[in-house]
Amino acid sequence: MKIMGVSFKDFVLSNVLKIDIDIFDMPFEVLKALIVLKRSELVVHVKNSGYYKREFSGEINLDNLKKLEDTKKELLDRAYDETQGIIVVNNAEPVSLYFTKCCGGGTANSESILGYKVNYLRKVLCRRCSERCEEIKIDCEKMANAIGCRIKYKDQIREIIRDVSRDDTGRIRKLNLLGKEITGDKLMEILGLKSNRVYFKEDSIVLKVVGEGIGLGVCIEGACSMANENKDFKDIIEYYYTGIEFVKLDEDKIVNTLEGRKIVIDAGHGGRDFGNVNGDFIEKDINLKIALRLYELLSNKGAECILTRCIDEDITLSDRVKIINRKRPDIFISIHQNSFPQESVNGIEVYCFKDDIDAVTLSKKILDRVTEELKIKNRGIREGDYYILRESKSTGVIVECMYITGNIDSRLICEENIYKIAEAIYRAVCEYFEVIV
Ligand SMILES: [Zn+2]
Ligand SMILES: [Zn+2]
Repeated sequence: MKIMGVSFKDFVLSNVLKIDIDIFDMPFEVLKALIVLKRSELVVHVKNSGYYKREFSGEINLDNLKKLEDTKKELLDRAYDETQGIIVVNNAEPVSLYFTKCCGGGTANSESILGYKVNYLRKVLCRRCSERCEEIKIDCEKMANAIGCRIKYKDQIREIIRDVSRDDTGRIRKLNLLGKEITGDKLMEILGLKSNRVYFKEDSIVLKVVGEGIGLGVCIEGACSMANENKDFKDIIEYYYTGIEFVKLDEDKIVNTLEGRKIVIDAGHGGRDFGNVNGDFIEKDINLKIALRLYELLSNKGAECILTRCIDEDITLSDRVKIINRKRPDIFISIHQNSFPQESVNGIEVYCFKDDIDAVTLSKKILDRVTEELKIKNRGIREGDYYILRESKSTGVIVECMYITGNIDSRLICEENIYKIAEAIYRAVCEYFEVIV
């Protein structure tokens, strides 16, 4: 999932709005309980949360949130902020939201509904939930069709009249009425019928339906009455979810900072090794400028950054690799500028070691952001068997930012654009770690 550009809060709230009940038509504490459970369910899609399990496969669309009227938006915001960061876990695993509109006196064990055991979805008596029931007429033909049956005689599906036996003209010989066997003649007598050739013409049965919903998790009706008795969202969740604990996340940290991330930034060449040169353009200097700016941006965002060199000095490739292998960063980025005998060759390319899938992901983001920022040609991701890529024990990339010999690229070289490259790489790194820039 890309939480990029979408705050965790908006992500959670837009999903809360998709819950199939009128969330604004219930006590505030119930709304808070629903938000807490939804936050718990969604946190497994957030890479930096400590609970990351899998990418979010749904669509992230905030239209419902944007279109929401102000008063409702304020209510949602307040419910969110008052429960800021709180999630529910069972055995250190965040729970998902399950609810039933009205359980009719008790919720169910997950096995009987889902077919498998969910530890926190145990049967809970719900005395608060009124025995709400309604009588509805069911079309028997429809019901039979639904289960792939055909009704020969209407009476076949009636529990109160069973075992009807008829002669070949359809006259009732005998039947079981409410558990008592009687003859067709007796039926005539007791019901005052003119014939014993009787068909059960009714095309519907009446069902008493208790409660509403599948019966798992929070009973909304019960939760509402708890809230009306001054119970809060924690009481509600604890009542309907078994064996759970509340945990507090620092939401700002999980989406807004690179705290806890370690990044090695390697300015290629240096000292006596000038790298590529084209007139006044010297690769080692451009590399260092980009590296220093990148260091500043990533450090400000909370990442622990390590520069392989911060001045113009000699440093061997093996020393660079030693730094990487000693620090074991999440990623390393080696900054270079390319050259080619023909000036018609221009553009950015990024090198990865073979099968380093994470490096490919990072490379793609770097290419996208830099080409977007500088309108430089995208020369794509390349597999490179370079020493630094091969010998380093961390995911990393070599960014050949541009061709300093290129007729187009060389015109772009200036202080401002060098900083733009650094900023574009910075944004790519944030995106890679799913952190909002
Ligand atoms: Zn209930
Ligand atoms: Zn180089």
